Amino acid sequence: MSIINVLKKNYRIIALVVVTALVPLVYLLVYATGGIKYVFSHTMYIPILLAGMFFGAPFGLLVGLAGGILLGPLMPFETTVISPEPQEFINWFYRMIIFMSMGGISGYVSNKLRRDAQRINELMSHNQETMIPNTNYLGAGILKLSLGKQSLITVLINNHNSITDVLGTEVFHKLIFGIYQDLMDYVGTEGFVVQSGRNKLWVVKKHEDLNIEAGQIWSLLNRPRDIDNIPMYVDYAVGLNSSHNVNNCAKLENFRGSDTSARLAQNQNVPYIIFDESLTQKRKEYELLATFSRALEMNQTFLVYQPKIDLKTGFPVGLEALIRWEHAERGILYPDTFIPIVEQTKLIHPMTDWVLRRALKKIWEFSGMGMTFPISINISARNLYDTDFFDRAMKIIDESQLPKNLIEMEITESVLMIDPEVSKNSLQKFVANGIRIAIDDFGKGYSSLAYLSQFPIDVIKIDKFFMRQIIQNVSSQQIVSATIKLAKQLGYKVVAEGVEEEEVAKLMQEYECDYAQGYLYAKPMNDQDVISWYQKHCRQKTS
Ligand code: C2E
Ligand code: CA
Ligand code: CA
Repeated sequence: MSIINVLKKNYRIIALVVVTALVPLVYLLVYATGGIKYVFSHTMYIPILLAGMFFGAPFGLLVGLAGGILLGPLMPFETTVISPEPQEFINWFYRMIIFMSMGGISGYVSNKLRRDAQRINELMSHNQETMIPNTNYLGAGILKLSLGKQSLITVLINNHNSITDVLGTEVFHKLIFGIYQDLMDYVGTEGFVVQSGRNKLWVVKKHEDLNIEAGQIWSLLNRPRDIDNIPMYVDYAVGLNSSHNVNNCAKLENFRGSDTSARLAQNQNVPYIIFDESLTQKRKEYELLATFSRALEMNQTFLVYQPKIDLKTGFPVGLEALIRWEHAERGILYPDTFIPIVEQTKLIHPMTDWVLRRALKKIWEFSGMGMTFPISINISARNLYDTDFFDRAMKIIDESQLPKNLIEMEITESVLMIDPEVSKNSLQKFVANGIRIAIDDFGKGYSSLAYLSQFPIDVIKIDKFFMRQIIQNVSSQQIVSATIKLAKQLGYKVVAEGVEEEEVAKLMQEYECDYAQGYLYAKPMNDQDVISWYQKHCRQKTS
């Protein structure tokens, strides 16, 4: 404990010692400096005012009286070595009355200020509608807790809107107060309850097994409740968490865990959820998602482009557009960190629309610089199975006025297999409009090329997994060479993905693979780098 904390905790004892020591010290000071005739007697105000301020009017009066007597009958007017000259009665009596008044008034005023401050504090730390303590009470609340682990519990009333709509806010306030009282009885002397939102209570209590706790709270909450003789139907969601440090129970952010759990219980329609670390992950995902739509609007997302190389000529024949997110706090995020989350929501639609628009604009720009390439964009399952996707995408494509054969869509085989009939129809509409289709990550799933041949496909991209081990692994060589052969027989162009080494590129040439993509040629680059890469690459090839 720091010195400041010790002083704060024991300030009344310290004040008492100071006051009782100061009174005789002032007496000695006045005596030693020549008696009451001189100015030093005014020092007595200090202990009198302190006594009133710290201990109230009666003690202020008492110290005033003591000071008055010490500097009155017990103190001469002037002390000389030869003879101390006594004071007149009126002189010291009047002074004593003044001293006592000062002690009394300072005590009264500071008492009043203290009472007012306490009242303000009380008002501020209570919800004025329900009279339940609010989050301002947390600091005072933790003084009730014993040291060690605590349980933090969030209780949500899910149907508060329908209760207030049908029965009015008064009834709801009475209801929540009743629940608060039951919870207060439950936590006993070593805990407290606050109202942290319109329909939310936080319970802090000595830690017990959270499963047992959850069961007990759940049965307590579901007691029959009547307000003004109206039986209530209350729908709750509860989240439970624990905190190892008592002091943490005063910090709002420490209730995040139980809040997240309660909200999840609400969404999943279950009575309660006990917090664990995987929920933190879920919360992070949620936060990421919450900022993603803004990121799209504010152009915090950008595209990078990776060239596809013709293995016969060594020249680029197309670019794949890949999304990146420049996150304000976390720096550049790669698609693996956010696409799987975005894909689970409708946000994938505006994202793909944005990618398409951006990529088409780039085709124009690159084309103006003498680089007319098709661009591939990646399409998610949710896009392909969205009934509006075709119309939306075609509108963007038509508006761009680009030749349709410059646009390629990459779709993984597993996405096609979710519902082969629907995906086939969806692809056919694009193909009928001149858009090219590539199967991405081929070989990762289980479908055969023969099966895939029923889909309107132009390109097969062999997954990078095969390239990683192909030099050492004979069976990978057999699979890849057979796949390339068959794909070409079926009329597809073949791209080898993830080519990092010259040896692999040579092998692909040997197998008569059409194109390759990978770090050997270029990493995905921003638009400026694409231009300089292209110029340099073509110079090298032609020289
Ligand atoms: P993908 O479509 O298979 O894209 C190829 C990924 O492999 C890219 O990762 C690329 O940077 C990486 N790559 C390229 N060459 C090499 C190489 O030689 N070695 C290795 N080890 N990796 C290489 P990236 O950009 O992180 O993208 C990951 C995945 O995220 C993509 O896989 C794609 O499925 C998805 N994605 C990216 N952009 C978009 C998008 O705009 N929309 C959708 N729906 N998905 C996207
Ligand atoms: Ca791809
Ligand atoms: Ca791929």
